[in-house]
Amino acid sequence: MSIKLTILGSGPAIAIPRPGHTDKTCREARKPGSRSRRMRSSILIENRCRYLLIDAGPDILEQLELAKIRRPDAVFLTHAHSDAAGGVDDLALFLRGTKTKPMPLYAEASVLRRITKISALFHARPKTILKTVNPKIIHLYQAVSSFGLKIIPLKVEHALTPGFPTVGYLFPKKFAYLSDFASIPPRSLKLLKKINILFLDAAMWFGTKMAAHQNTAQAIEIGRQLGVKKLYLTQIGHNYPPHKIAQKEISNYCRKNKIKFPVILAYDGLKIKI
Ligand SMILES: [Zn+2]
Ligand SMILES: [Zn+2]
Repeated sequence: MSIKLTILGSGPAIAIPRPGHTDKTCREARKPGSRSRRMRSSILIENRCRYLLIDAGPDILEQLELAKIRRPDAVFLTHAHSDAAGGVDDLALFLRGTKTKPMPLYAEASVLRRITKISALFHARPKTILKTVNPKIIHLYQAVSSFGLKIIPLKVEHALTPGFPTVGYLFPKKFAYLSDFASIPPRSLKLLKKINILFLDAAMWFGTKMAAHQNTAQAIEIGRQLGVKKLYLTQIGHNYPPHKIAQKEISNYCRKNKIKFPVILAYDGLKIKI
């Protein structure tokens, strides 16, 4: 049976378009149905009519509404930055009204602690919130089974603070999703070797750099070294040109550099069957 993936969000820490901006990308992003419009990065995984979600940023309820998903069955967080976890409160509040079993929320212990600490809702009404969300601790490289899928949290380095707890997720022999990272440790790289489908952080456009992220060329190079069959770029930043132009330039770059696998610039709402 196939797994269906939907990119709910493909954007950076601040969504695109941005208030008051008149640059080309933001202008393009305001057009109806534009692929340059980017909410905070997240991906929905549908397997046997169950929905797993990786990351729940501030756009999460709008993303679920657009994808026509009533509720996710489980949520996996990559790290505690607001663009990845800042929507957990909203999601928990929303779930309170759906009268369903608590939703498993998987994250590293320190991430769960951090969210609990910064979340006014967790603080103010921890008992209520625990009726809707069931925090589950994940451990690096230890597989978790969720609704028939095996998921392995892979350590990545992210952000300016070394050791800031961040993971990517590997669905063995299927795909892997690493949406925020500065570098991938050797143990994680080894597990990613020859993965068919890979989603990677490519926050910065060609020729630009940011300590906590990859640029387009760096992400493509990682895909090449790993021997992937198909590479999707996500966490797309504000310095990218509008989607259509960016995809064309990426394809030209791949041709020039003899990249043999397809490199696809993700966009919000992109659906993939695997
Ligand atoms: Zn702008
Ligand atoms: Zn981050």
